[in-house]
Amino acid sequence: MSIKDNIEKIKRELPEGVLLLGVTKTRTAEEINEAIDGGITDIGENKVQELVDKYDHVKPVKWHFIGHLQRNKVKYIIGKVDLIHSVDSLRLAEEIDKKAKEHGIIQDILIQINPAREESKFGVYLDDTEELLWGIIEKSGNLRIRGLMSVAPFTEDPEDTGKYFGAVKELYDRLGKIDHPMVDFKYLSMGMSHDYKVAIANGSNLVRIGTAIFGERKYKDQ
Ligand SMILES: *Cc1c(COP(=O)(O)O)cnc(C)c1O
Repeated sequence: MSIKDNIEKIKRELPEGVLLLGVTKTRTAEEINEAIDGGITDIGENKVQELVDKYDHVKPVKWHFIGHLQRNKVKYIIGKVDLIHSVDSLRLAEEIDKKAKEHGIIQDILIQINPAREESKFGVYLDDTEELLWGIIEKSGNLRIRGLMSVAPFTEDPEDTGKYFGAVKELYDRLGKIDHPMVDFKYLSMGMSHDYKVAIANGSNLVRIGTAIFGERKYKDQ
């Protein structure tokens, strides 16, 4: 199946109101442009260098940053990305805020949650999220918190995964009620190729899909 066929198949399965983010790490600009021609409006990269390298070679599209972000690299992506999914510390939020201010923009961000407290994963714990959110509100002026993002642990049992997604959704509903100009929840970013159906069943409205669109990734150094 072609990239376009894959996109159409996934889109047919998505309920209305769920945004399909094409995850384009390791893919060439040519493949990405094929996806854009196939109906992808939003793409996500997880490495700053890769995003910067491809940026000028890809057709007009909304860029998302979905990977771990080091503070010293924020400057390279500000002004390029519509939404940063991976804010998980106050220091990172402050750096993004500073660079957004220099660019004269308001940067949309999501707070990344690590719902299973996995040591191998980035993200803030469920119980610490509200404190981080208020910290961001207090310390910044050029950010808009648009929701939450999460990566669930890999399990064979979809019910297990659903439990974690469900907990993030509960938190999303609760924090989304905060009445503050910097809080404007719109996105609950959960679900990848292997678990997006479980994520949607648990309230996700933004799925991040790479493999199911482009096929298996080949990493150059493997
Ligand atoms: C790579 C990646 C995805 C997409 O994974 P697939 O299994 O290829 O769909 C989603 N989210 C993040 C944060 C990623 O790094």
